[in-house]
Amino acid sequence: MSFVIAIDGPAASGKGTLARRLAQHYGLAFLDTGSLYRAVGVSVIAAGGDPADERAALAAARALDMSRIDERAIRTREAGEAASLVAVMAPVRAAILQFQRDFAARPPGGQRGAVLDGRDIGTVVCPDADVKIFVTASPEVRAHRRWLELKNSGADVSEAQVLEDTRERDRRDAERATSPMRPAPDAHLLDTTDLSIEAAFGEAVRIIDKSTS
Ligand code: C5P
Repeated sequence: MSFVIAIDGPAASGKGTLARRLAQHYGLAFLDTGSLYRAVGVSVIAAGGDPADERAALAAARALDMSRIDERAIRTREAGEAASLVAVMAPVRAAILQFQRDFAARPPGGQRGAVLDGRDIGTVVCPDADVKIFVTASPEVRAHRRWLELKNSGADVSEAQVLEDTRERDRRDAERATSPMRPAPDAHLLDTTDLSIEAAFGEAVRIIDKSTS
């Protein structure tokens, strides 16, 4: 049986950094499921399509090849927006679901388990995960973190604009009919508003060690 840790939460809550570090710490495989939705959105745009067009998005999801994801292209603000548009489409989510479940059940490289981060890992993708953590932070703090990242990568965008995007994405992720973002009933809540990366990591390790001892 694969050991699975589910990390969910809104954009820029710190869940990606946390999930990556936890995977390293426990010797587990890591899957950033947001990158799959971002790659679908980017692939539609690259083909000259509209990410709001379900047929185009579904075709891109079915053709998705993890090994060909362009890490730089999927990290832009536009890619995040496109991801949250394709992520509301039930057929797109269904097309990506099995890949995520297979990754969790049979992690690559024969590792003994996996850490998956996303929005619906604890509720839909891996409802039987061994440990579930829902990571949050205030919208202002999350927008500030994302703005710094974008600025450092050379993007010309105001913090106010990033805060507006953040609120809009939260709304879309939480209100969609299929797999809305919400904590699983058995998830541990971790609020990183006032926590450094180090402190959030320490808290997550404490939660995991306690629930598996
Ligand atoms: O986490 P990240 O910001 O990269 O995710 C991009 C978008 O992909 C999110 O805003 C969300 O709409 C979607 N997503 C999702 N379910 C997941 C992971 C990401 O709907 N498990």
